[in-house]
Amino acid sequence: MQRGKRSVENHQPSEDGCVTISRAAGSLTFPSRFMLVAAMNPCPCGYYGDPKRSCRCSPRQIENYRQRISGPLLDRIDLHVEVPLVDFRELSSNTNIGEASVVIRARVIAARGIQHERFRKSGHSTNSAMTSRQVRQHCQLDAEATGYLEQAMEEMSFSARAHDRIHKVARTLADLAGSINIRPQDILEAIQYRSLDRKLFS
Ligand SMILES: [Zn+2]
Repeated sequence: MQRGKRSVENHQPSEDGCVTISRAAGSLTFPSRFMLVAAMNPCPCGYYGDPKRSCRCSPRQIENYRQRISGPLLDRIDLHVEVPLVDFRELSSNTNIGEASVVIRARVIAARGIQHERFRKSGHSTNSAMTSRQVRQHCQLDAEATGYLEQAMEEMSFSARAHDRIHKVARTLADLAGSINIRPQDILEAIQYRSLDRKLFS
């Protein structure tokens, strides 16, 4: 029982795309390739960061609440996105404020095509599956982007895993824009998607 449980806690499913359950009689491996999408409130009362209503939680309560998600699990989530409360008038308005899905879809298909071509001989077809060696090969940064990343690493104490993830996300952002090189703005945007790695209160 313990060994199987430990495999799951070690985040094997999200890394390797399989789960191994070991028992006295032998061990079995099951496929488990999946996309994890999760949502949480910013704090126990739900209003931390809300421009209209004030949060009633103490810094300690907020930290305890957020620590319920382990660092290693957060490390493995590519994009942390803060979603502000949508105003009722915006919700009920007919005005189209965003880009049409069909346009976004075309951009995603094009970016997937670039990745497919890039990893033709690698046995996988996405930036997210890059090994550390592939990250070094395909995610080279210019001096400006390197400077931004170094600064962020120092200020926000990102883990080595988060560092690799920032490169992979930046590579995807550049692909979505049809850019051969990772641009400084791609690195800056990828850093923004690590918002839950940041310490709220120092
Ligand atoms: Zn609160």
